[in-house]
Amino acid sequence: ENFDIVTLIKECIEDLEGKAKQHGIRIRFTGKLNHPIIVKGDRKRVQQVLINLLDNSIKYGKKDGMSSVSIFPLFEQVLVEVTDNGIGIDEKNLSRVFERFYRTDASRSREVGGSGLGLAIVKHIIEAHEQNVNVRSTEGIGTTFGFTLEQPKHS
Ligand code: ATP
Ligand code: MG
Repeated sequence: ENFDIVTLIKECIEDLEGKAKQHGIRIRFTGKLNHPIIVKGDRKRVQQVLINLLDNSIKYGKKDGMSSVSIFPLFEQVLVEVTDNGIGIDEKNLSRVFERFYRTDASRSREVGGSGLGLAIVKHIIEAHEQNVNVRSTEGIGTTFGFTLEQPKHS
């Protein structure tokens, strides 16, 4: 199934704008927003990926912080990144955040709830699309999660 990832991102941002505001976070979308970028995949499940990543960027953000979604068209794929300037993840936890039920001490000590499943679901969905998900982070500075999606072949 092909769908427009630009429209989907806009919808997800709209869905979470209220929650973001409550946490004092602004969500931005950077990129060429006026024309569609068609990708291959299960729209409903990719929506879940975006919601889970945006939800984290809000929960683990800092007040007056920022969360942004960017799209980078590659050759046969697009790369989508969700970046925040929140609490970050230290190096020893970084490789474990995709494990089920794994939560860092920093996040457990926050008031925000969570079961530690969001990123395990993200990884599962992206791998079911035979695509990749990655994370880079600096403690105290912020975090970026990126995932790829395939573009339909031109015919
Ligand atoms: P759930 O998503 O199931 O409600 P959760 O947010 O705790 O709960 P995950 O989304 O799987 O679970 O994230 C796992 C852990 O990774 C979080 O508890 C947190 O410690 C860390 N983490 C995830 N995203 C971020 C982020 N953007 N900034 C800082 N830490 C993060
Ligand atoms: Mg989460």
